[in-house]
Amino acid sequence: MDIGSSIERLLVSPTREVKVPIAIEMDNGSVGVFDGYRIQHNCARGPFKGGLRYHPEVNQDEINALASLMTWKTAVVGIPYGGAKGGITVDPRKLSIGEIQRLTRKFVGQIHMFIGPNIDIPAPDVNTDGQTMAWIMDEYSKFHGFSPGVVTGKPIEVYGSKGREGATGRGVALCTQWGLKELGINVKNASYAVQGFGNVGSWASRVLSDMGAKLVAVGDEFGYLKNPEGFDIKALVAHVKKHPQHSVMDFKGCDRISVEEFFAMDVDALIPAALGGVITEKTAGSIRAPLIVEAANGPTKPEAHKILLSKGKFVVPDILANAGGVTVSYFEWVQNAQCFYWEEPEVNQKLETILYKAFNEVNKMAKAAKLDHRTASFLLAIREVGKSTVLRGL
Ligand code: NAD
Repeated sequence: MDIGSSIERLLVSPTREVKVPIAIEMDNGSVGVFDGYRIQHNCARGPFKGGLRYHPEVNQDEINALASLMTWKTAVVGIPYGGAKGGITVDPRKLSIGEIQRLTRKFVGQIHMFIGPNIDIPAPDVNTDGQTMAWIMDEYSKFHGFSPGVVTGKPIEVYGSKGREGATGRGVALCTQWGLKELGINVKNASYAVQGFGNVGSWASRVLSDMGAKLVAVGDEFGYLKNPEGFDIKALVAHVKKHPQHSVMDFKGCDRISVEEFFAMDVDALIPAALGGVITEKTAGSIRAPLIVEAANGPTKPEAHKILLSKGKFVVPDILANAGGVTVSYFEWVQNAQCFYWEEPEVNQKLETILYKAFNEVNKMAKAAKLDHRTASFLLAIREVGKSTVLRGL
């Protein structure tokens, strides 16, 4: 892109890296100490924006990488934000709900001076949800007064947006539909496989099922299942809700398969919607799906991406495929600022308009410059961030 080494250095360096120890009283009276992070990558285009994850593998490098992905994601869909990410190194399944609440509130106590509706706006990510956001809003408001816009992804009852819960999955489903169209495949009756049946995987499946597509393989951290006839999505969603580990395991009328078999399924689209780094060099070689829609953040390792491209696969990159969530987060923030709330069809329509424009711009750039879609997305995003950086000056 020839942007020069100074701008290059600026764009790869996070603006601020916050790491705090979070000490809470555990239910058994002992003291638990956890590491919490908030990393703010770039704010040339607007306030920092990005999710908050609770996971045992959270570390500074990972949060750094995810924070920069948010900068490019908000730029590629053209919403007025920068990029950030946060997390706590913890296995929330080993904590009681009371302990998770104390952990969340204590974390806010330590970072409230670095976040805010016009500074940095967290949102849900792996193992955090609307409830977590409601606690953050409440705790932050104790320090700064009523501030619904400090987080997005809140429950509807406490200033959330209609359509936010399903927004990331809806965006993934739309990108799947448009990607399939590019490949000359009609979404109706198209087959797909989803890894991860949490918020994103289940919502993408719900919307794809409404479009007439067929989920034939699904899996999560507890195992993988296939059903060539197609899973009944409503029944699967209800099953996962009731399952003690919120897993797809033990769902009736399907066969258990290995993770290797899952990735090698002969489907029209493969949707990794769990964690990063799951498509490795080994996995990539076995993938038969012509379309890979990256619902998770960073699911494909760089070497694996090269293999996929050499096999002629169409990869819709994470910064485009899962941008539906942050787009409706933006709508939520706008509604919070206006104290005026929209109905769900309006939210879904506005989301589709923004994503469709971004998908087409990336596709056009990829075709014109003979680039893969990931490189094209980054080019578009870096160009936007670079322009704002230069215009704002030093
Ligand atoms: P979630 O916690 O609701 O669900 C995660 C799913 O992944 C669960 O089904 C879990 O069992 C499965 N999983 C976890 N570890 C796994 C493993 N090792 N192997 C296979 N499956 C595993 O999380 P989510 O909100 O659905 O997020 C999923 C992905 O999408 C993450 O990468 C997240 O960063 C990304 N994402 C989420 C949003 C959002 O709005 N929720 C937005 C953008 C990107």
